[in-house]
Amino acid sequence: MIYLDYNATTPLDSRVFEAMAPFMTQHWGNPSSPYSFGNQARIAVEKARARVAECMGCKPSEIVFTSCGTESDNLALRGVAQALARCGNHIVTTAIEHHAVLNTCKALEAQGFQVTYLPVGSDGVVRLEEVEKSLRANTILISVMHANNETGVLQPVQQIAALAKKRGILFHTDAVQSAGKVPISLCSTGADLISISGHKIYGPKGTGALFIRQGISLQPLFTGGPHERSLRAGTENVAGIVGLSHALALAMESAESEARRLQKLRDRLEAGIRAAVPRIRINGESAPRVPNTSSISFESVDGESIVLSLDLRGIYISTGSACSTGDPEPSHVLLAMGLSPKEAQGSIRISLGKHTREEDIDATVEALAETVKRLRGISSIENTVPAR
Ligand code: PLP
Repeated sequence: MIYLDYNATTPLDSRVFEAMAPFMTQHWGNPSSPYSFGNQARIAVEKARARVAECMGCKPSEIVFTSCGTESDNLALRGVAQALARCGNHIVTTAIEHHAVLNTCKALEAQGFQVTYLPVGSDGVVRLEEVEKSLRANTILISVMHANNETGVLQPVQQIAALAKKRGILFHTDAVQSAGKVPISLCSTGADLISISGHKIYGPKGTGALFIRQGISLQPLFTGGPHERSLRAGTENVAGIVGLSHALALAMESAESEARRLQKLRDRLEAGIRAAVPRIRINGESAPRVPNTSSISFESVDGESIVLSLDLRGIYISTGSACSTGDPEPSHVLLAMGLSPKEAQGSIRISLGKHTREEDIDATVEALAETVKRLRGISSIENTVPAR
C-alpha cells in the first residue's frame, strides 16, 4: 500500500511502542496511589511532562495532558470562555479552523458568546489587519490555528500573538498539524495556549496536551479528582502520556532534516502532477506551508471519486479532513479561500510522512494521471446532455 494521508493519522513509531509497553504490562499502578508501585507511574508521567515541556519550550507545570487534540482545543476555548465570562464574551477565530475549534465556537455562541469568524485570502492566510479590525473591548480570546490540516498553510501566529499581548487578550493556537513538522519550539510563537495531539506525530491515538501559560486560569471541562492540577480530572493514561512525550521528542529531533526531505518529495509530487494532469490548481501554493501537505483541485472531476479510485489501487489519500469523510458538504477551508463549491468538491489532500519514498510519489502521480483522465472522460459524456 501507499499511505499518503499522514495528516489524518500516523502509524505508531516502534520506539514509542517500546517506551509505552512497560506501563501497560509492568508498571501499571495508579499514579495517584500513595505507595511506591503507584509512584513509578507518577514518576513516568512527570518525566513525560518535563520532556514535552522541553520540546515546546516551556515549564513542565505549564503542560496539561488530555485525551486528544479535540479535547485540548475544547479545554482552551471553553476553559477561557467560562473563566473570563465576566470580563467579556467576544471570541475571534477564523473560518478555516478544524471542527474541534469551529464547533466549540458554535456551542459557545449557543451559550451567549459572540464569535467572529475571520476570512482568509485566496492563499489561505488570515490577514493581521483583519485580526486587528475584529478586536473589541470585550474580546477575551483569539484562536487561530498554526498549520491548516487541509492545505498545510501556516498562519502568522507570531504576529497575532504579539498583537494579542499588546491588547491584553489571550491567544490560543491549534498546533496539531504543525507540531513536529516545523523545527521550532512551539512556545516561541508567543501563544498563551497551544494544543497538540499524539497520533499526528507517530504517537498513540487518544493522547494530547495543552500548553497553558503560567498565570492563566481555566475552567476545567470535567468535574472529578484533582488530576492535572484540577484541570483535567480522570486517572492519567500513563502509557499514552509516555508515548506522546517520546513521539514529540523524536519528531523534534528529526524535524529539520525530515522537513527538508518531505519538501523535496512534495515538490516532486506537485511538479509531477502539474506535468501529467492539465487543469489543476494547488491550493495555498504561494503561502508558507508545512512541508508534507498538498491540496490539489482538479477541474471536472469529483475528489471523492479520485479517492475511491486510488483506494482500489492501494493508494490512500483523502478529500480533506478525515473528520469530514462522508460529509457531502464541500470543504469549508477551500470555500473560505474563494473556491466555488464545485472546485472544492474536485479537490484532494495528499499528506506525506516518514515512510514516504520517491517511488511512492512517482506511482501516485502515474495513478492520478490515469484516474483523472478516465474520470474526466466519463464526466465529459455526462456533459453532453443538452442544456435545457
Ligand atoms: N486540530 C487539527 C488542526 C486537526 O487536524 C485535528 C485532527 O485532524 C484535530 C485538531 C483533532 O485532533 P484529535 O484527532 O487528536 O482529536
